Amino acid sequence: MKYTINNVRKMFLDFFQKNQHTIISSSSLLPNNHSNLLFTNAGMNQFQDIFLGYKKYHFPRVTTAQRCLRMGGKHNDFKQVGYSEHHHTFFEMLGNFSFGDYFKKESILYAWKLLTNKKWFNLPKNKFFVTVYQDDQETYNIWKNIIQLPEYKIIRIGNKLHNTYESDNFWQMGDTGPCGPCTEIFFNQSNDEKIYLHNLNDSNKYIEIWNIVFIQFNRINHNKLIPLSTFSVDTGMGLERITAILQKVHSTFKIDAFQNLIKSICQINKIDNNKNHQSINIIADHIRASTFIINDNILPNHEHRGYILRKIIRRALLHGYKLGIKKNFLYKLVSSVIKYFGNFKKKLYNQQKKIENIIQTEELQFKKILEKGFDLLLKKIENIKNNKLDANTIFYLHDTFGFPIDLTQDICQEYQINIDIHELNNIISQHKKKSQQNIINKNAHTIHTNTKSIFQGYKYHTIKAKIKQIFICGE
Ligand code: ATP
Ligand code: MG
Ligand code: MG
Ligand code: MG
Repeated sequence: MKYTINNVRKMFLDFFQKNQHTIISSSSLLPNNHSNLLFTNAGMNQFQDIFLGYKKYHFPRVTTAQRCLRMGGKHNDFKQVGYSEHHHTFFEMLGNFSFGDYFKKESILYAWKLLTNKKWFNLPKNKFFVTVYQDDQETYNIWKNIIQLPEYKIIRIGNKLHNTYESDNFWQMGDTGPCGPCTEIFFNQSNDEKIYLHNLNDSNKYIEIWNIVFIQFNRINHNKLIPLSTFSVDTGMGLERITAILQKVHSTFKIDAFQNLIKSICQINKIDNNKNHQSINIIADHIRASTFIINDNILPNHEHRGYILRKIIRRALLHGYKLGIKKNFLYKLVSSVIKYFGNFKKKLYNQQKKIENIIQTEELQFKKILEKGFDLLLKKIENIKNNKLDANTIFYLHDTFGFPIDLTQDICQEYQINIDIHELNNIISQHKKKSQQNIINKNAHTIHTNTKSIFQGYKYHTIKAKIKQIFICGE
């Protein structure tokens, strides 16, 4: 096949290399020290200091295939995965960058050539439409006059709210950092030539493939943007998305590498993909993400990045459970991820055993938690009224079986069941108060017996009075 995921990555990098760009390796999923990001979420992250003028660049033009994870912060796609045809937690972003070199016209011309030229991706021109930032007339004119896109295929988007730029066509990495207006290229997957704006996010119709950002500002805070002294270009195109288009499939889960991984999932577990494709897609996405996250030396634990990894692994296991898979299976898929997605990364092969062990340990641990409370939760869900799980049940699962509350929340979300957070918070705070009271009573009792004090019956006093008594007692 000409357009395998590995060939597409290579063609992209070759194209820009032929246009005087230097190929730079992807940086880790763990952003460098001073970044305020949880995970690398775009190709431009590793060049942040260059865009801001803090660091000198060695090359004015570079190109990368960057591994990204969109979990947390400004870009969080976790909940969409499995339900959207084009969103992954982990994906690769292809990008070309200009540091104070070329700007709007050249970057649009490069993108258009790669997508439509016969020697390159050779995609039909009439299938594309674009969005531009509402005030960016220069970009609008490039699409209209140089590329000669019909005007109905150039959509102005953006809204300046209270002197801040908060819109779809003003790209920012996070709450602070380099940013600027952008123009995005969409592919129309439907047979209708007309573009329906209200369907822009309908992944069955349109697919956003490439974002070209004109980096002109540094965002200091919510209200403050500082213009940069040199203008740069940062572009990002989802490798899985452009591969899907080139392979003429409607979903990124249908591309070669994902189909192979999905086959492995079905074979190992003897399940039918036609019946369970959402859960299987989720498992495929999450085992790929977990493999790459662990490969970048992040381990599952109870806080920060490790907790996000744990959440990804657990959601995959949960979907396995939902499919009736009772034995450990997730760790067995690491070799398939490496086989089908790891061709570009030699280090992965050396890490296979380690990654498998880490996932298997998580799997064993989670199974114990699941076994304790899951069946009860499922029974409750089966008999649910008004599509709402009562907060007492959630608390009971936690209190009696050690079933984490956020896990119940996740499960409810999977089953599209509501919970009353307010009620749950009330129960939790009541419980906290009660246990504080118990501690006080216990302490008072201990001091009482230790000091042979004469106090008696203070159990029935108010908390304030008790603290006073304990204090006096201890003296
Ligand atoms: P979307 O609107 O589809 O969520 P986005 O506007 O958030 O995408 P950008 O921040 O513009 O995405 O990122 C640049 C490109 O990276 C996108 O045009 C798309 O091709 C790709 N991309 C973004 N998010 C994902 C994802 N979760 N999975 C796969 N590819 C993605
Ligand atoms: Mg998005
Ligand atoms: Mg978008
Ligand atoms: Mg975008």
